[in-house]
Amino acid sequence: MKLALRTLPYLRPYRRLLGLSSVILVLDAMVDLANPWVFKILIDHVIGGQPTPPELAALLGPIAQDQGLFLVVIVTAGLVVAIINNGLTVWNSYLQTKIEQGMILRFRSQLFEHAQRLSLTFHDRQRTGDFMYRINYSSAAVGEIPMMVPQLAQAIITLIGMFIVTYLIDPTLALLSMTIAPFLWFSIRRYATHVQPRLEHVRSMEGHSLTMIQEAMSMLRVIISFGRESYEHQRFTEQGRRAVDARVRVTVSQTLFTMAINVITAGGTALVLGYGAFQVIEGRLTLGTLLIVMAYVASVYNPLQAIAGAGGTIQEHLINLKVAFGLLDTEAEIRDAPDAQPLERTQGRVTFKDVSFTYPGRLETLRNVTIDVEPGQVVAIVGPTGAGKTTLMSLLPRFYDPQDGRILLDGIDIRKITVKSLRQHFSVVLQEPLLFSASIAENIRYGRLDASMEEVVAAAEAANSHEFISGLPDGYETILGERGSRLSGGERQRVAVARAFLKDAPILILDEPTSSVDSRTEGVILDALDRLMVGRTTFMIAHRLSTVRHADLIVVLDHGRVVEQGDHETLIVQSGLYHKMHDAQVRQRAAREGRRPRVTPLP
Ligand code: ADP
Repeated sequence: MKLALRTLPYLRPYRRLLGLSSVILVLDAMVDLANPWVFKILIDHVIGGQPTPPELAALLGPIAQDQGLFLVVIVTAGLVVAIINNGLTVWNSYLQTKIEQGMILRFRSQLFEHAQRLSLTFHDRQRTGDFMYRINYSSAAVGEIPMMVPQLAQAIITLIGMFIVTYLIDPTLALLSMTIAPFLWFSIRRYATHVQPRLEHVRSMEGHSLTMIQEAMSMLRVIISFGRESYEHQRFTEQGRRAVDARVRVTVSQTLFTMAINVITAGGTALVLGYGAFQVIEGRLTLGTLLIVMAYVASVYNPLQAIAGAGGTIQEHLINLKVAFGLLDTEAEIRDAPDAQPLERTQGRVTFKDVSFTYPGRLETLRNVTIDVEPGQVVAIVGPTGAGKTTLMSLLPRFYDPQDGRILLDGIDIRKITVKSLRQHFSVVLQEPLLFSASIAENIRYGRLDASMEEVVAAAEAANSHEFISGLPDGYETILGERGSRLSGGERQRVAVARAFLKDAPILILDEPTSSVDSRTEGVILDALDRLMVGRTTFMIAHRLSTVRHADLIVVLDHGRVVEQGDHETLIVQSGLYHKMHDAQVRQRAAREGRRPRVTPLP
């Protein structure tokens, strides 16, 4: 119930439309009530020749005397009632769809925004397909549930109206028709306890299928290169088959439920019909009255069935609503502190003070890291794989928050800075550049959305990429494939560097930007990066130590600890990890090139 009430705020903007829709509903229900009377008049008075009721006779005047004219008028009246009935239904369905879809869109975009704000820790644990399912499908319940209320209300109004009219005509028949109510109630209860939990299960299975599609499409290269298409296909089909089986079973149960409801109402109809016909034979009831009662009983059962059916549907919508609100209720772990201030452009002094960080469920990833970086310095972060280099860098823009210690930007704790303004201070160039499936110009402009075409080109020139872009048939308007496919790794990286140029942030994070390109391309990219680093504090995770020789500060990480720091000259003469890694790389390179290594002697 609480859950259903949470949909109300989404309804607010549509209050007026909803009011109008409710008025139409009531009108519609009233017209519904008028329907069977046409029949009664036709049977009893036009055909049966019974005396016309005085009100009707007064209304029709001489027409009531002429049987043919009477017939035409009554039949036409029936037609008009039917047309009004349907017209109102169409109008209302337009209004309701408008309200419902509007509400769903609002909720959906709220979920989308929220999903982006959740920390990476959360996304590390969640499956993307599950997100897609929640945002795109489950969210629909937010509009569907409130829209069921007027329908239910209409059903209830019609039910009460029909019952009263039937009761006025023949109390016994009316009461007889109601004997089925307890059976209906029992069926609904059974549905709620037996079918609903299974529905929940089917939903999660269907969400899983979506995850598989999403994952397979993003891993297509791996799948193809390992020749695992049929394996993936089989996995998907099997999972799909399980979901389909479960869905079929649930649908059968749902249909059985509908059938039970229909059988119960058919039983009721038989009861009323049998008793009514007996009354007609006995001469206690006219045929017209029996017909009108039957019409009303059928009309009583329509709303009854609608109410019973809605019971089932509402359960399903509520499950969806729970899932969707579950996502919305997940609090973003990385949030602005109440006293957070936006940060103006910094000088770029970065301080890590005793920072420790652990991924959920892992051993300590970073331990007591302390680093002091002056504005404009180039800092190289080196160390074996898994040492925690990437993790350390992801703490700076607050992708994660450290459990202990502080990170300061120009002396201000980054948790005291609004997340948005903090992140504006970083440009990140990753090992594997991620580009959108959009034009190259749009990809570069992602660095600053309001940049002019001249600025985009200038950034591309600075990133040594203008030349290759101009060489493409569509130039800057070349549309890239998903994740930037249709460009080589080196080209993608240069587009990413151009994007960073355009962003013009005071602090630069380079996460092994040249590790996946050949040495010739590496030269071109490093050249662009050198230009990009000017006047910015730069953190550079580097695997090839030859690229860090000129860094102002080299931080050596091992198992999450800073084991050494200093410049190349200082570190190379210590018999520490840096010296060992350096020697190993010199030897490797020499072995590749087939010459004797020049290893630095230790003092
Ligand atoms: P490096 O960049 O030095 O190779 P990382 O910072 O990527 O190292 O990883 C440090 C450690 O943290 C590794 O042991 C890795 O398994 C673990 N790790 C990295 N990312 C995650 C994550 N999202 N969740 C849990 N553990 C992670």
